[in-house]
Amino acid sequence: QIFGESRKNSASINIDIESEWTPFNAAIQAFSQHQWQAGPIVNGVTLDGEQHAITAPYNRSESVGQVAFSSASQVAQAIDVASEAYPAWSQVAASERGECLQRLADLLELHTGELVALCHREAGKTIQDSIDEIREAVDFCRFYGEQASSELASAKSIKSFDGSTKQLTYQGRGVFACISPWNFPLAIFLGQVSAALAAGNTVVAKPAEQTSLIAYRAIELMLEAGIPAGAIQLLPGTGAEVGATLTTDVRIAGVAFTGSTETAQRINRSLVARDCEAVPFIAETGGQNAMIVDSTALPEQVVRDVVRSAFASAGQRCSALRVLFVQADIADRIITLIKGAMAELSVGRPELHSTDVGPVIDIAAKEKLLTHIESLKNQSTLVAQTQLSDECKLGDFVAPTAFEINSIDILKNENFGPILHIVRFKANEIDQVVDQINHTGFGLTLGVHSRNERTYCRIEQRARVGNCYINRDQVGAVVGVQPFGGQGLSGTGPKAGGPHYLYRFTKDVLSA
Ligand code: GLU
Repeated sequence: QIFGESRKNSASINIDIESEWTPFNAAIQAFSQHQWQAGPIVNGVTLDGEQHAITAPYNRSESVGQVAFSSASQVAQAIDVASEAYPAWSQVAASERGECLQRLADLLELHTGELVALCHREAGKTIQDSIDEIREAVDFCRFYGEQASSELASAKSIKSFDGSTKQLTYQGRGVFACISPWNFPLAIFLGQVSAALAAGNTVVAKPAEQTSLIAYRAIELMLEAGIPAGAIQLLPGTGAEVGATLTTDVRIAGVAFTGSTETAQRINRSLVARDCEAVPFIAETGGQNAMIVDSTALPEQVVRDVVRSAFASAGQRCSALRVLFVQADIADRIITLIKGAMAELSVGRPELHSTDVGPVIDIAAKEKLLTHIESLKNQSTLVAQTQLSDECKLGDFVAPTAFEINSIDILKNENFGPILHIVRFKANEIDQVVDQINHTGFGLTLGVHSRNERTYCRIEQRARVGNCYINRDQVGAVVGVQPFGGQGLSGTGPKAGGPHYLYRFTKDVLSA
């Protein structure tokens, strides 16, 4: 039987069809000036706190709303509430927990216009990326909800020595901390939270401080969907304050984290240092993702997939292409085509359909990327840099940039933005190229373009990566279809949107 054979992903909206786009655009426009308010939600009540202004990444003079960050006592209070609520929520039938998530998915679809506007204005995503974001969030809720209903709801019967049958059941583990990133402020936020809840845990969720408003709106919809107020707490704030308090509290029974490798290592250390039992740590972190292109590849297809993988979402995906290895025989041709394609990219206001690349998340991200570009200018060849229009001065934009470099070894960190590095290799060096990629220690996505089956199978076998994509782009994994997650410095697994993820949030109990 094929996993998920009867399951369907959300159809969402096709913005190229006028009759779909016009009413949907009206729903987005209704929120074009809206100001959202957010704060900690503990036991269903919004608490007050130190206010922080949220402005649009594409225009810093556009206000999007205000968020109150959580105080230390509110964090403690949230863990108290989640601990008290755990026994009751874990006793709710898995099928009923699953149904809550199906209702949440329906509500997300009902409010797609507002959520797209919010995602676009708070995170600076293009309209298409924002639509995809809401669709992915819906898919996560339906996927884990269905899995709870179908797989966790009934006990597994185990045959014993004496011929009797024993029952293996799944239970939640306790209070799960879910710490999520700004680059998928709704999809990854809800992916973690919905899995933790579906498995029978109560949750304290800390969204990225840049994107607290959409996380707050998601919790409001969860409460409306019938998830009990005690089961889900929201704690906006910084990693240094809220995140660090969460991961040192001995009552936290597990942590789901998506973000940088560095932060994952810090969380791991603080979990180990706690004087209590070892708990699951599910981390999805960075990458130094490569694509290998041999001389049999189709250049036009390669360039289309390179441009999407490296520059879509302004390169702010952990799956994004960072290092393109291209066989020397076709390198000049590929580079010429990349230059042409980059000259055609439109960078600017993300609400315009014509925009290909929007802003990066904030000034700190922009400065870090610009520093990297400057440092490469001295030691590498600048291949191309897309022009920025004047309106880009209003926000935090980084021009898509490509460099030719001598070796992947010069890249010490992940550069989380629209910067592509190109390395040439010779026909007999493919194994060495894979070894160099493995040597970075990261292992998230790998793209391969080759029409030679032996070549791509050999690369796939040798590479230590979580997701290997052959003759296509390497971003935009689809829930349930392309389970997503890496290995090594890129994450602990199990893969999000895959058949094993939910189990990691459970403990199984044998009644013998
Ligand atoms: N799942 C996303 C993709 O395939 C990336 C997730 C992330 O950036 O954390 O593009």
